Amino acid sequence: MSSRVAALARPMHAASDTEADYGYPSPAKFSDSDTETVHDSGYATGASAQQKQKSAGEAPSSTSSAASTSAGPASREPKGGRHADDDWNYVRRTIAKEKPLPPITLKTLPQNINWVSFLALTVVPALAFYGAATTKLQWQTAVWCVVYYFYTGLGITAGYHRLWAHRAYSAGLPLQYFLALGGSGAVEGSIRWWSRGHRAHHRYTDTDLDPYSAHKGFWWSHIGWMIFKGRRAPGVADVSDLSANPVVRWQHRWYLPLIFGMGFVFPTAVAGLLWGDWRGGFFFAGAARLLFVHHSTFCVNSLAHWLGETPFDDKHTPRDHWITALVTVGEGYHNFHHQFPMDYRNATHWNGYDPTKWFIWLSYKMGLAYNLKTFPQNEIAKGQYAMQLKKVEAKAATVVWPKDSNDLPILTWEEFQEQHKNSGRKLMVIGGFIHDVTEFEADHPGGASLVKYKLGKDATTSFNGGVYEHSNAAHNLLSMLRVGALHGGYEVEAEKNRPFPGLTIFDGPSLRAEATQKLPRSEKAKKQAVVSSLPSPLTVAA
Ligand SMILES: [Zn+2]
Ligand SMILES: [Zn+2]
Repeated sequence: MSSRVAALARPMHAASDTEADYGYPSPAKFSDSDTETVHDSGYATGASAQQKQKSAGEAPSSTSSAASTSAGPASREPKGGRHADDDWNYVRRTIAKEKPLPPITLKTLPQNINWVSFLALTVVPALAFYGAATTKLQWQTAVWCVVYYFYTGLGITAGYHRLWAHRAYSAGLPLQYFLALGGSGAVEGSIRWWSRGHRAHHRYTDTDLDPYSAHKGFWWSHIGWMIFKGRRAPGVADVSDLSANPVVRWQHRWYLPLIFGMGFVFPTAVAGLLWGDWRGGFFFAGAARLLFVHHSTFCVNSLAHWLGETPFDDKHTPRDHWITALVTVGEGYHNFHHQFPMDYRNATHWNGYDPTKWFIWLSYKMGLAYNLKTFPQNEIAKGQYAMQLKKVEAKAATVVWPKDSNDLPILTWEEFQEQHKNSGRKLMVIGGFIHDVTEFEADHPGGASLVKYKLGKDATTSFNGGVYEHSNAAHNLLSMLRVGALHGGYEVEAEKNRPFPGLTIFDGPSLRAEATQKLPRSEKAKKQAVVSSLPSPLTVAA
């Protein structure tokens, strides 16, 4: 492989910048002195086994970000082993090289559960249900729940997802801190851990390197991937930009206090201090609200890969549906999103439900956000066009089309006459094709007698307006009755004398056939008249 192709084949990751070990909801721990040398060792807290498995074959990471970027996955190759050039497909090569952990059995279940995530995802609903059953919901607390649900939800969708994971827009420090705090209140891991997994999800969608591949089932992509330790580490993804971001670093460093503070203390204190509902604040605005935010945002990984249409591309599982949008604070146009991930919008139509887009736009208007990215409409239209074409083609494949003229026998006028008289079939010529109307005669909407009158004759003119201007549907139906083509396209005597040898009329109204119809007299006179009355094609065109 040429070095140019090899360079193209390398994923743009900085091996040293891919890391794992401070995800949901375990505390984040930036190695302050060594931020850029953390290995890509999986995600959540289930990374240790994978880390061990990989460490043997992994070259030491570069200490400089620039150097590690240029190294690409080659730096992950065993020394003396295959080079990246040996197999250009990164996903295939990685899957072949790194064996998955053995499947989880009943015996190995306890050690394969990510207990921190498991507890977070079971204690929160338990608190929510217990609280709902034992606590009176005050209206102020109910309103606060909805407000805080949207704030913490936006922390994930506008912050974690569109700002940090996709860089779909830029935000000043005030908005960044606002979103980092909101996202902490959603208790879904640090920005850095979350974005690292999400970038892998986009880059390796539906493959074994996708941490929440929809191919592993709805519940795996929704919640299973957090509760159980993955069988593989997610594919590499570059998060060097996030490592350099002071807000991301700050949130990562103070992650544990932040999730308790923003997840429970703050929503409880607001309700307690402002209207005295400490208990309701904790159970409703804290636990129940968190339960909703969790499953709302988890739906982006599950529901958005299952429900709806694929108007932009159907290569992978992401789909568009307004129900998903409603559930996920506007992240439901996921087919669009996977095609155009750096677009700050999910819904491109004004009537699409995308509060996250509205929030970003409003922030932009307030001067808090800038550099909002949108994909060129022309490129978006290309995807839509390709998918529409695909649908039309699939539909066309279910329709029976008339026989191709190349597959029909060609008969002279005399042979056509003989077939009509002796085959017992009712034949007529229209537009140069011989049609068998035996079955159709009685069903002719204009009456059987009109058909009968033209049997054994050329009815082109009558069909095309001489008697009745038939509809498109009639043309389509007629074409299905084709059984042969007439040599020359019309009566043979005209063929013998035609002014433009080689010109054959096979379809559509024929001026010469029309001329033929206007000649009621003897055959001799008719053919002479046909020839002499024909205009030249150029004259007709003019
Ligand atoms: Zn997705
Ligand atoms: Zn995304």
